[in-house]
Amino acid sequence: MGGSIYSTYPPNLSPVQQEYLVTTIKNWAIQNGLAVRPALTALPAGADDNRVLATNAPVTIFPSPFPAACFEEATALQTIYNQLYAAITCNEEWLGKIIEDLVDADDFVANLWKTHLEVKKEGYVQNLSLGLFRSDYMAHVTPQGPPSLKQVEFNTISSSFGGLSALVRSLHAELLTSPPGSPISYPPHPLFDSNIPPENTAVETLSGGLAAAHTAYGSSKSTPALPLCVLFVVQEGERNIFDQLALSKHLTQVHKIPVFRLPSNRIIDDTLIPSSNSSRPLIYRPPHSPETAFEVTTVYLRAYYAPDEYKSSRDWEARTHLERSAAIKCPTVLNQLSGCKKVQQVLAEPTGPDHLTSFMDGIDPAIISRLRQTFAPQYDLSADGQGRKLALNPETAMKHVLKPQREGGGNNIYKAEIPNFLRSIPEKDWKGWVLMEIIDPAPDAENIALRNDGEVLRGNVISELGVYGTILWETNGKVLHNDQGGWLLRTKGKEVNEGGVAAGFSSLDSILLY
Ligand code: ADP
Ligand code: MG
Ligand code: MG
Repeated sequence: MGGSIYSTYPPNLSPVQQEYLVTTIKNWAIQNGLAVRPALTALPAGADDNRVLATNAPVTIFPSPFPAACFEEATALQTIYNQLYAAITCNEEWLGKIIEDLVDADDFVANLWKTHLEVKKEGYVQNLSLGLFRSDYMAHVTPQGPPSLKQVEFNTISSSFGGLSALVRSLHAELLTSPPGSPISYPPHPLFDSNIPPENTAVETLSGGLAAAHTAYGSSKSTPALPLCVLFVVQEGERNIFDQLALSKHLTQVHKIPVFRLPSNRIIDDTLIPSSNSSRPLIYRPPHSPETAFEVTTVYLRAYYAPDEYKSSRDWEARTHLERSAAIKCPTVLNQLSGCKKVQQVLAEPTGPDHLTSFMDGIDPAIISRLRQTFAPQYDLSADGQGRKLALNPETAMKHVLKPQREGGGNNIYKAEIPNFLRSIPEKDWKGWVLMEIIDPAPDAENIALRNDGEVLRGNVISELGVYGTILWETNGKVLHNDQGGWLLRTKGKEVNEGGVAAGFSSLDSILLY
């Protein structure tokens, strides 16, 4: 299997053809909002003082071939994965044991856990939680047999690119279906014959989750009653804003829900919980019309997933303020913590208690086994464990990646660097890391990327598939809404270890199934 599909893919382009296609894509991107704000540091001083510029998001010129069986399996398992992470979040005792073991090795996890305990002590007033998840995979290729689906990680906070990935799908589909020879089309290739990327309903799915939470919140808890809204908590100076606007636009236009964007550093200034109201509604006053107050049904975090976003105790105060409010959190602190890499490692443990099954009440064992097959081998670094040996031996380290409890890309240690890295940090901190076997996708995959500074790169690539899911549940485990739909393909140069688009490593891509 493996290589053959790529021996003639992507089709060759003459320099003139490539230039033409690149220009077409640059224009399409801006015309359709497949865009990001430029990094101010990348511009000459004063070049964008009025903050008007946008540039194409990094994209591949061609869709990448992806094994249909792997894509279908990832899609089929998403609602089960949703249910798994909701169930883990409901089991505070099980999750707490794992987290408490991390707190002395990881300050960020420790602060999140402290935030949860603080709110728990006072008592949570909202028993609904919302997850907008993305499960990430690679199609693992071995010399024997067909490619298999392996999970890279499961994201429970700020799962991004649903908005833009649907647009990349439209871009590639348009190029594939334009009449042959028309300026907006590809040169012919057998893989292009009556083949377009599968539909991508990420925007509908993710907005649908937020709308379900908004509705489930019920009526205003304020006296007198206030109009209700959804609040997107975002990073100051967010560059990936158009991805987020795709969701808020859908919520406003289709679900008719008012949506506001609030930079995390404005939480304390622009929201309040009236001390006289024991239901603790979260009240938001838009700065542009402070006389109108809204009650927030749902707080959607596109911020606060990384330690450097908590610049002072004020940010922790703000996070606690949101957490203790009556708004439905996407995610709660506990649900964020359920996405720790450590949890994924524990679930994947091949021996000992069958944690996975314990969370899969009422699920067919055959499905649980399919879920388990998506796990790649992962290890802790305990003194007597196999993981420590594999990580410290330079030869076996080469087949592994070392991961901390972090999100957003750019945090892992790879292969040859693992042994020395471990020796450079105190041994007491080793338990904050997990060791994971490298997933090996097709070795000869190729594509061309248009980066957001206009650079065009052709070469061997590695692609990572993300599948979106959303679930709304009660603390007692009852599920009110569980849906999947939409996907993301991110493609990076083969020599690059990391994979994030926002972190600058990958390009957005779409899929041709084969
Ligand atoms: P983050 O939450 O920071 O995105 P990930 O687990 O997704 O953390 O790791 C970041 C990137 O590292 C991935 O996008 C992927 O490119 C690479 N990576 C992570 N785990 C593996 C693995 N087991 N095999 C190959 N590459 C991996
Ligand atoms: Mg992640
Ligand atoms: Mg990732």
